[in-house]
Amino acid sequence: MEPVFNRVAMIGLGLIASSMFWGIRRAGLANEVTGYARSDETRDTARRIGLCDRVCDTMQEAVTNADLVVLAVPVGVMEQVMQDIAPYLAEGAIVTDVGSVKRHVISAVQPHLPSHAHFVPAHPLAGTEHSGPESGFAELFDHRWCLLVPLEDTPAKQVARVRALWEGLGSYVDEMDADHHDLVLAVTSHAPHLIAYTMVGVADDLRRVTDSEVIKYSAAGFRDFTRIAASDPTMWRDVFLTNKDATLEILGRFTEELFALQRAIRTGDGDMLHAYFTRTRAIRRGIIEAGQDTDAPNFGRERS
Ligand code: NAP
Repeated sequence: MEPVFNRVAMIGLGLIASSMFWGIRRAGLANEVTGYARSDETRDTARRIGLCDRVCDTMQEAVTNADLVVLAVPVGVMEQVMQDIAPYLAEGAIVTDVGSVKRHVISAVQPHLPSHAHFVPAHPLAGTEHSGPESGFAELFDHRWCLLVPLEDTPAKQVARVRALWEGLGSYVDEMDADHHDLVLAVTSHAPHLIAYTMVGVADDLRRVTDSEVIKYSAAGFRDFTRIAASDPTMWRDVFLTNKDATLEILGRFTEELFALQRAIRTGDGDMLHAYFTRTRAIRRGIIEAGQDTDAPNFGRERS
């Protein structure tokens, strides 16, 4: 494949950036990838495992002459990072991000963007509960969606280049506006994470079962919650603080539904429960038909 960019700079070298690097290398999407992370430890690890063609000790060095800069840091530090790199951005450089929240990132980043650069916000809908430079792999984005949230005044040509990058990484690409993105993600990702965190917290509170029985008899439902609840605390703190309105809206609806189900259990309304579970089962079938999960028993995992 023809390279889409000459030099790509990764700011932040965690799960998403490292997966992007391996994917860029797999498909030959850039001639050179530079990388920067704030800690010596992460930069040393990156050098040791060959992550990026060049790991830089400063953001300035990483972004100099880059035609694409990827902000792959937690949502809460995007503004600071953008402020720090702004003076060093090349003429015509594209800045993109991978943040899980879009409205907040746009309002944090855009004011600091120099007039000679472009911002194309993006969000790959792919991840794992692992973080850090060693957790990435080239296949992470294969057959997953990446949502672009182009700004009104961004030339279509720049948006098309970011789209080509994500398609080259194996993703399907769609475009939507920031508020819609944040609401969709509150339903599909943010609220479910909060519910998983809560459920695992509740089990942990029941001390008498924690140490032994919760782990020993951990059944599919609870195990899936624990996997989600093992996700990076910094990333998820920032998601909830910056997608506050949409998450609270969805959690409000969730609470109402929960009360309705609670009442059905209390009053023995089996018809209501059965109808409800029939409806939700159809949603699961839709996800499998769309190729976004496997139908294998136990989600295709080995028995443990
Ligand atoms: P991660 O594995 O925890 O890596 C975060 C990286 O950001 C680390 O390299 C960290 O450096 C660096 N960093 C943190 N604060 C920084 C600062 N102030 N200045 C410079 N670098 C800083 O995170 P990730 O999972 O790749 O997530 C990155 C972004 O992708 C987040 O915005 C997240 O919302 C989004 N995202 C995540 C997922 C997911 O499932 N994980 C999915 C889609 C989108 P050190 O290692 O030196 O601390």
